[in-house]
Amino acid sequence: MGIKVVKFGGSSLADAEHFRRVAAIVKADPDRRFVVPSAPGKRFSEDTKVTDMLYRCYEMVRNREDITEYFKKIAKRYNDIIKDLGLNFDISGELDYVRDAILHHSGRDFAASRGEYLNSLILAKYLGFDFIDAESVIFFRENGTFDEEKTNEEMATELKAHKYAVIPGFYGVMPNGTIKTFSRGGSDITGSIVARAANAELYENWTDVSGFLMTDPRIVKDPKPINTLTYSELRELSYMGATVLHEEAIFPVRYAGIPINIRNTNAPEDAGTMIVSSTNEYDKERIITGVAGKKGFSVITIEKDMMNAEIGFCRKVLEVLEENNISFEHMPSGVDTMSLVLATSTIEDRRERLVNSINRAVRPDNISIEDGLALLAVVGRGMVKAKGTAARVFDAISNAGINIRMIDQGSSELNIIVGVEETDLNHALAAIYNEFVK
Ligand code: ADP
Ligand code: ASP
Ligand code: MG
Repeated sequence: MGIKVVKFGGSSLADAEHFRRVAAIVKADPDRRFVVPSAPGKRFSEDTKVTDMLYRCYEMVRNREDITEYFKKIAKRYNDIIKDLGLNFDISGELDYVRDAILHHSGRDFAASRGEYLNSLILAKYLGFDFIDAESVIFFRENGTFDEEKTNEEMATELKAHKYAVIPGFYGVMPNGTIKTFSRGGSDITGSIVARAANAELYENWTDVSGFLMTDPRIVKDPKPINTLTYSELRELSYMGATVLHEEAIFPVRYAGIPINIRNTNAPEDAGTMIVSSTNEYDKERIITGVAGKKGFSVITIEKDMMNAEIGFCRKVLEVLEENNISFEHMPSGVDTMSLVLATSTIEDRRERLVNSINRAVRPDNISIEDGLALLAVVGRGMVKAKGTAARVFDAISNAGINIRMIDQGSSELNIIVGVEETDLNHALAAIYNEFVK
């Protein structure tokens, strides 16, 4: 029998009722040996995630505000869960310790990480599982990058000592002993790291939707679930805004070839989505696997007569980006023009410097920066086999009266990237979805 690692997201652990569902899922299969919980998420749409409340506490301390009353709200979230579950467990000492540590400037990441730490203590108690603190098995290097080899070794050794255990998501430890978190949504990464170290046969990622859906359910009503997704398709979709799984979560399992199964805690009977390294099968009716989109991009357009004949032009422009530590997403070009598409956030504070440096480097006739671009990715392993997919995508967008600002197709034909005005994004996503799903 293989091992299953199960990660539960914040909405799956928001209150006692969800803890019961989680316990029923875990106990239904003895192979579900290692559990990775998030912090309690939203119970209803206006609610605040515990992680956000902890960030707020950290900010309040920085602004010399009193956190006593606000911290009580966090304590209540946990105490309500314990009480409603009828658990004989006193977490007040832990809560006091966390509050005092935040008061004594223990760091932003430390504050945020306590959401998963406290939730894991409760879940371990409720399940009767061991508790393994992530700070003893997840390691970052001096420069803040994740140390996968050390982590894998130490985590594998530790897991061997436990039949059943709960390991909090989202954080690990720096060489100097301070706590560091992954970026937001990072419990997905922890789950994947545990799956690799446990040499699991499956990584189940339990959330509040019945799998990876063909497009964002907040934009298109009830999109169809995707049965099978490849790691590469997942990378394209999650990078482009389908945030159901953290975009870095596949790396630890990818090399080990461990499949990920996205499942719904509120509908455990649904099969969800299987994410696998490769498959030749695809949905011949729908052709595309999914479509996702993201706002917040800018285009730098550089014009110069005879640009194409000028050896090294591109390199000089890219060198300027490199010197400024800026990465770009796409580089559509014409005979006398070159455009760079990049995230607006990366150039925010250095537009002028960038324009001046490019001016100096290549003496263009004209250079401009335009904001407000959204990118969408139409992704599908079947597109390479089905002729005319690109035409259908562009027709669908045009027929919806939307202007296409940019097109880029990867040479693997796994995806087509289209740039549209930010205000047109949702409309474009819906138009493409409706073109392929009848
Ligand atoms: P968790 O708290 O379980 O980690 P997240 O909120 O991080 O859950 O991710 C699940 C959410 O992702 C869904 O509730 C949904 O609103 C959103 N989402 C965006 N795009 C997609 C998509 N293509 N398929 C499924 N969910 C999506
Ligand atoms: N609780 C963290 C967050 O809100 C990590 C996670 O949910 O995966 O980002
Ligand atoms: Mg998440």
